[in-house]
Amino acid sequence: MSKHPPIQRVEFCSHSGPICCPFCGRIVLPDDDTDPAVHPCSHTLFIATDEGFEFRSSRFDALMEIKGIEDQDIDPGDDGWDAYTDRVCCPDSVKIASFIPAPSGFGCYVGFAP
Ligand SMILES: [Zn+2]
Repeated sequence: MSKHPPIQRVEFCSHSGPICCPFCGRIVLPDDDTDPAVHPCSHTLFIATDEGFEFRSSRFDALMEIKGIEDQDIDPGDDGWDAYTDRVCCPDSVKIASFIPAPSGFGCYVGFAP
């Protein structure tokens, strides 16, 4: 395990609008149904949803020791992707957890580090 503390978590329960990088301001996850693509910047560690990863940086892979493993071969465990991505330990990192309001409750999880 890394000696660094776990990633800081910020939670939005009824977020609307894009998710931007807190370090450079780039729109990483557009809030636009016509553009479902993700746009990771150099600070983006990972982009995940309740269905799995959309993006993993090589830095995230190294921190989580999952280098070379395909997205679909990663098992987040019973606690799901939110808890799984909470475990990354990287200095000054921030994770934004954004949930669509009930009844969906679908979550998006984006991690950043300077
Ligand atoms: Zn950035």
